[in-house]
Amino acid sequence: MGPRDRDPVGGPKATINAVPVDRLQRPLEDLRISVTDRCNFRCTYCMPLDEYDWIARDEILNYEEIARLARIFAGLGVSKLRLTGGEPLVRQDLDRLAALLAGIEGIEDICLTTNGALLAGRAVALRAAGVNRVTISIDSVNPETFAQMTQRAELQPVLEGIAAARQAGFAPIKLNAVIERGVNEREIPDLVAFARAAGCELRFIEYMDVGNANRWTSEKLVPKTEILAKIASAQAIEPVRRERGSAPSMDYAFTDGGGTVGVIASVTEPFCGACTRARITADGRLVTCLFSTRGHNLKSLLRAGASDGEIRSFVVAVWNARDDRYSEQRLAAIASPQGYRPGAVKKIEMISLGG
Ligand code: SAM
Ligand code: SF4
Ligand code: SF4
Repeated sequence: MGPRDRDPVGGPKATINAVPVDRLQRPLEDLRISVTDRCNFRCTYCMPLDEYDWIARDEILNYEEIARLARIFAGLGVSKLRLTGGEPLVRQDLDRLAALLAGIEGIEDICLTTNGALLAGRAVALRAAGVNRVTISIDSVNPETFAQMTQRAELQPVLEGIAAARQAGFAPIKLNAVIERGVNEREIPDLVAFARAAGCELRFIEYMDVGNANRWTSEKLVPKTEILAKIASAQAIEPVRRERGSAPSMDYAFTDGGGTVGVIASVTEPFCGACTRARITADGRLVTCLFSTRGHNLKSLLRAGASDGEIRSFVVAVWNARDDRYSEQRLAAIASPQGYRPGAVKKIEMISLGG
């Protein structure tokens, strides 16, 4: 055994190139890469404030650094990448990064999560570069509600982004809608009608307490049961058998054959047991849970000249030590006499995490 096989931070050793598993026996399968913490929207549930402690430009990983990390993760068995942020399309030349990632052996799937506002001019180049799927966030198809929720954005460019994605050949196009009590839950049937007409797969997301800035309370949560009832009031649905264990969305088919709709019930039906996702923040920290309070500094390894083997061993050790199951613990706390205190710990904000 050479020095590269040694585990730098303790915990069980993993064989090089074997898929690492964590303490709850969950393999490392997917990697979400946040390419920026900046965004052209200020969605009330994600990034409500005007100013944050923005990551300094030179602290943000460059594309070569991101690609090197992705190659190391691919060597550990990761085949699916998701580019996210912040808003990934506010970063220049994202298609150049996509091309670098698409050239990595073992990477089979590159997905982009975007608010869609800048997609119209970029969809063709991104697809040509190797992005093969897009998920576009759209919480309302009512211009007033959309403006209220995003605080500084208009609906029309997003609609144009969805149309451009379709023209560029992305299929299926997924749409994400976060539902917030008192804001857009009455618009669930309209979102369903829009997605069906556009031929997109819509997924409703329960409002989560990611970070602390959104001041989440359980009163703002619209649970999956209520979301499903509202969908069914517009269009009959039936459950679809899950294809893939770790997919967070519970899917339902419209009984008239008009496609599917999903609900990501992270709060009321947590899926931590099947969570195989790692995240890299824009400043190069490895984060093992959406509700983590800290990340593990990959950038300092990269910039200190660590070898691929050293970085790989670090990643394996972090993953081997992972025991995150925040959403399951939150559900238990909500049901306990003490209740749940969402602001009790300082979590990393969604803008730097990458949703
Ligand atoms: N800017 C891009 C976008 O909005 O699609 C990518 C980053 S965004 C953080 C990724 C996803 O996280 C979006 O679909 C967004 O709606 C979702 N999200 C953000 N804050 C959330 C929250 N508090 N609860 C549930 N979903 C949230
Ligand atoms: Fe920006 Fe996406 Fe967060 Fe909205 S959800 S503020 S678009 S990062
Ligand atoms: Fe994964 Fe953490 Fe979400 Fe559970 S709470 S599903 S461990 S990201």
